[in-house]
Order: sequence, then C-alpha cells, then structure tokens
Amino acid sequence: MSHTTKIHLPTPLRAYAGSQAVVEVEGATVGEALTALVERHGELKRHLYDEHGRLRRYVNVYLNDQDVRHLEREATPIAPSDTLSIVPSIAGGATRPAPPAWSTGADGLPPLSQDELLRYGRHLILPEVGLDGQRRLKAASVLVVGAGGLGSPLALYLAAAGVGRIGIVDFDRVDASNLQRQILYDSDSVGHSKLEAARARLVGLNPGVRVDPHETRLTSENALDLLAPYDVVVDGTDNFPTRYLVNDACVLLGKPNVYGSIFRFEGQASVFDARVGPCYRCLYPDPPPPGLVPSCAEGGVLGVLPGLIGTIQAIETLKLLLGIGESLVGRLVLFDALTLSFRELALKKDPDCPLCGVRPTITRLVDYEAFCGLTPVASTGVEPGGWEIGARELGERLARGDDVAIIDVREPHEWQIAHLPGATLIPLNTLPARLAELDTSREIVLHCHHGQRSMRALEFLRQSGFRKLKNLKGGIDAWSKDVDPSVPRY
Ligand code: ZN
Repeated sequence: MSHTTKIHLPTPLRAYAGSQAVVEVEGATVGEALTALVERHGELKRHLYDEHGRLRRYVNVYLNDQDVRHLEREATPIAPSDTLSIVPSIAGGATRPAPPAWSTGADGLPPLSQDELLRYGRHLILPEVGLDGQRRLKAASVLVVGAGGLGSPLALYLAAAGVGRIGIVDFDRVDASNLQRQILYDSDSVGHSKLEAARARLVGLNPGVRVDPHETRLTSENALDLLAPYDVVVDGTDNFPTRYLVNDACVLLGKPNVYGSIFRFEGQASVFDARVGPCYRCLYPDPPPPGLVPSCAEGGVLGVLPGLIGTIQAIETLKLLLGIGESLVGRLVLFDALTLSFRELALKKDPDCPLCGVRPTITRLVDYEAFCGLTPVASTGVEPGGWEIGARELGERLARGDDVAIIDVREPHEWQIAHLPGATLIPLNTLPARLAELDTSREIVLHCHHGQRSMRALEFLRQSGFRKLKNLKGGIDAWSKDVDPSVPRY
C-alpha cells in the first residue's frame, strides 16, 4: 500500500531539490519512492540513475539504518514510519559538508577550539550546558566587585568554567591576614597588588579567559561606567556603602546583582534583579546605624565560610548566564556553619521601594558614605580628631608617669593574644553594666584592636557624662607597630 515517506537528501543534492533537506513522496517500495522523487525534481535523475535507468553505484540508499543493497534493493517495501536516506560517497573537498557552527562561530557565538573541547568536556556532556551553553559562557562577561573572601572562590570558579571576560574591582594589597580565607592569593603575594596577583592566578588557571583589572575604589562617580559593559555583577564587598552603591547601580542599569555576605559563622546569598524581583533596598531599605553590625575585621569570620557563600554566588552567576535552573531571585538563603543548616526566606518586591518601587525617589547614585551614616560629623557630632590619641603620644605620656586609665574593650580571647601593660579588660557589650568601675575624674584611654569598637565605647561614655576620654587611634595594632613590637599583632 502506498503512503508518504520522508527522503533525506545529502547537502550536494539539495540544490536539485529546491534546497530541501527532506522531501516527502508517495510509494510502497524504495523504487517507487525514488521514482516519485525524480519525477518531482527532474534534475536529480541524472545524479541518481545511469543511462540504463539503474541506480548509480556511488549512490547508497538507506532504509532507516539499513543499506537497501542488503535488503531487497529497490523492491524493498516501505512501512509507514520508515525513512529513506540518500548517502553519496564523498570524494573530497567539493562535497565535504560545511563545518559545524561551533567550530567556526558562523552563528554569532564564539567558536570552541580542540583544546577547549577537552578542557570543558565535563560541561559539554551536560545537556543543560552542552556546546551552545559553553559558547554562551565564553561570550559572557561578569564583574566581580571585591577580590576578597567572596571574590576569591567566585573568580576562580568563573575562570575555570570558561566565562570569557571577568572584571575585578579592588584597590587593596594582599595582607598576611587575608590568606586565612582569600584563596586567590599565596604567601608570596603578601604586600603586592591584589589585582595583579589575582590576574596571574586566574590566567594561569585558564589562559582562555580575559581578566580586566579595575584597580580603583568603586564610587558614585565611576560605578555606572564600570558596571555597564558586563552582563552580570557579583557583589563581594564587605561594607554597607559599597553594597548599596552596587545595588543602586545595578537597578539603574537593569542588571542582575548576585549578592553574598558573611559574618563569623553565618552567610547569606540571593540574586537581586529589579526587572523580575526585589532589590537589596526592598530587603533592607536603610543601612544599620554605624557600629551596630561589626565588620569581619572586628567580629571575625570562619575562613572557609566565604568559600561556601562565594561558591553559591558562582553557581547562581553561571545559571544566569546559561539561562538554566531556578535562580535565587526572590529568595534569601541563610547558612549557619555551626549548625550546618540552610534556611530560605521568600523576598518580595516592595512597591514602596525608593529605588525599584512604583514611584522611585532615587533616580541617580547618591553619597553612600553619608547615607550609611559614616560621615562622623553628620552621625554623632563627635569629631574623631579631638577625641583621639596616637600610640606614640600615649607611650610618651605613660613613660612620663601620667595618670591614665587604659580600658580595653575587646573580647577576652583577644586579650589572651595580646594586651597592654596596666590595662583593664571591659568588653564593649559589658560596658553599660560595669560603668560603676570607671572613675569620671580620671583620664580614660579606650582601645580595641583597630580603634572602631573603642570609638563606640567612647560615644557611649560621653553620653553617660564622661568627659576626660581619649580613643587610641589604630588600637593595639598601632601600639605594636609604633611603640612596642613585642606586643603580638593579629
Ligand atoms: Zn527595591
């Protein structure tokens, strides 16, 4: 019985069949189908048949995956679901099929080399990535803001994954205290520019990626220009002004902002994209008052924690670039290392958000130091200069025998590492309860590790009526550097 059959034509023959790759014909046998084909496309006849009406010897006809010469040749019956393929022998260049787009880039995505096929083999065999996904990663660009604890695993994994262009914003030098968690750097990098060390490491890992170093502080003046050329921005910052700046710039530019933050044993991650979900200001409209949330430099951080949160940021970034999976848009992941538990909170877009809400009041970048209350005059009225004493000056006064009470507001485990002679330990959070131990008539010098916690202690004592107060500028660290190197630094 006759029915419709698909015949697949090889590239060289398609020109004689109206450029079609597949032609549908009627026929109950292979011979009938081929006859129907050459009746419809007469040009094909001389290519398929010789002058005696026999199939040319270099034309092979397959029924499904079987050569019909091993079946009943042209008398082979065709079942309704069968397909025919005409496969000519290929003699050389002229009839070689065009190379695939992944090797030439003819479709607009960058091509992959043989080395890249081997390097990304484990990606290529994932159907969710594959050749096209890997080429999309190669075409993509990501800006990493901050090359610290979060930026380290993030940049390493993005480079390893083959993200074509990785921009990094940072202006610091590598410090020995960074090596506990910032795995981009090694001991030889201490004292050197972070960006130079990072670029060398990333290009060493994957010479195929381009690393753009932006050795500058991200500011309201340069943020839009710096962020604009990148597909995705990843926030690896450690302070509130930069966090709000990154968020606001991303919303104004319409870019996704992959967020992560860490403190002590806890971390958070989300994806902010105001086009489809909330922004950071929907979650935290106002920054906490200065001093309420200590920085990692003050409060400490488990070194491996940024490894986990930064890696979550890398995963979310790759998913955004590949367009796969379910992103963290609208969800906040909370991680606690001490209990090894993840929690997830739903985040909603705030219609009253001053930035991405219905009636936005923020339409350009602002002064983020002032917004976060970090301009001292604006926040407390305390001019730090007038309340500070340098380590050398304090050393000279103690050597003269001046009557000064030294109050150390750090934690007991910090006191164990190092403390000043004659100092009294009153940790900051116990200060209100131990006010009675202090003598308002004596001069008091407050100190901590670097001078931030003791500045808060000073503000508290001032409000409690104390006046003869000084804050040791730079904390016990400055004392070790400038007065007594035998006091251990940490
Ligand atoms: Zn918002």
